[in-house]
Amino acid sequence: MLVPGSEFEEPGEELQLGMDSMALYPAFVDELREASGAAIDFAMVGTLEIGGDEADLDRLRQRADKQRAFGVPSTVLSAGELGARFAGFSQALGGAIFYPEEGQVDPRTVTAALRQAFRALPVTLLENQAITAVRIAGDGVEAVCANGDRIAAWRAILAAGAWATQIELPFSLPRAYPIKGHLLGYRGPAPGSLPHVLRYHETYIVQRQSGYTIAGTSVEDVGFDRGIDAGTVADIEGRAHGLVGGLLPATSTDQWVGFRPAAESPLPLVGRHEDSPLYLAYGHFRNGILWAPLTAERLAGALTSANS
Ligand SMILES: Cc1cc2nc3c(=O)[nH]c(=O)nc-3n(C[C@H](O)[C@H](O)[C@H](O)COP(=O)(O)OP(=O)(O)OC[C@H]3O[C@@H](n4cnc5c(N)ncnc54)[C@H](O)[C@@H]3O)c2cc1C
Repeated sequence: MLVPGSEFEEPGEELQLGMDSMALYPAFVDELREASGAAIDFAMVGTLEIGGDEADLDRLRQRADKQRAFGVPSTVLSAGELGARFAGFSQALGGAIFYPEEGQVDPRTVTAALRQAFRALPVTLLENQAITAVRIAGDGVEAVCANGDRIAAWRAILAAGAWATQIELPFSLPRAYPIKGHLLGYRGPAPGSLPHVLRYHETYIVQRQSGYTIAGTSVEDVGFDRGIDAGTVADIEGRAHGLVGGLLPATSTDQWVGFRPAAESPLPLVGRHEDSPLYLAYGHFRNGILWAPLTAERLAGALTSANS
C-alpha cells in the first residue's frame, strides 16, 4: 500500500516524508519501467479508510481535517456513498474517508525491474551474499562477506532492514529490530473487482492489477520468527471475510510473513553517517515501500555531493 494519509495518526514529519515520496512515485515508476522494460504493478487507486459507525467516522473525519491543513486531500463519504463505490461489503458501515492520491504497488515487480535495470549499467549484483562486517579502510570502506570475500568500496550504504545492526559496524548506530506481520493472498477475485485500497482498523485489503488480493495483517514483536501461525491466519481471514465477504473466498490461497524493519529512532535513518564513508538507509518500519523513491533521491543527492 502507498497510503500516507491513512497511515499516520498525527500530522508530522513521517506524514510529510510519506507525502513527498508519494509525489515522486509516478515518475519513479515511469523511469524504472523505461530503464528496465519490465512491467510494474502500480496504480493510484485511492484509499477508503472506513469508519464502522458514526462515532468511528467522526474520529477519522477529525484526523482528515487536520491532515487536509497539512496538504493531504481527502473527502468524507457517507454510508450510502461508500456503498455506491463498492458493493461487496458484508457488514453495515458508517462511511469512509477517501484519500484519492494514494495507491498500491507490488514491491516484487519493483525489485524485479530494478534487477533488470541494473543489467544495463556497469553494476555487479551479488545476490544471496551476506555481509558480516563493514569496516573503514583508508578513505573508503571494506565489506566482509560471510564466505570470507572482501569488497573494497568508495562508499557503502547500510540497507539491511531489520538486520542492519546485526552487521559488525565501525560505529554504534540505533538498533534495528523486526516487527513481524502476517499477510494473506487470495487468487480468484476478478481484476478491478476492488476499486480502492480498503483500511478498516487493523485490517486492510489491497488488490493487484491481476485481481490477486492481499489481506493484512498482524503486528508482532517476536524477533525473527518466520513461523506462520494458524490462529493468526484464521483471525485475518475472519476479519477480511467479515469486511468484504462478497469479494473474497472464506480461506486464503497463500500465507506469508515479513519483518517490518523498526529502529530505535523516531524517523528512518537516511543519509551519510557523520562525515564517514558509510551511508544509512534503514528503520523504514511500516512504510519502506512508500518511502523508497524519497530514500533513493536523498541518498543519491548525498552521494553526489560527497563526490563533487
Ligand atoms: C506485513 C507487512 C506489511 C507491510 N506493508 C507495507 C505497505 O503496505 N507499504 C509500505 O510502504 N511498507 C510496508 N511494509 C514495510 C516494508 O516492507 C519495509 O519498510 C521495507 O521492506 C523496508 O525495506 P528495506 O529494504 O529497508 O528492508 P528489507 O525489505 O527488509 O530488505 C533488507 C534486505 O537486506 C538483506 N540483508 C539482511 N542482512 C543482510 C546482510 N548481513 N548482508 C546482506 N544483505 C542482508 C535482506 O535479505 C533483505 O533483502 C510492510 C511490511 C510487512 C512485514
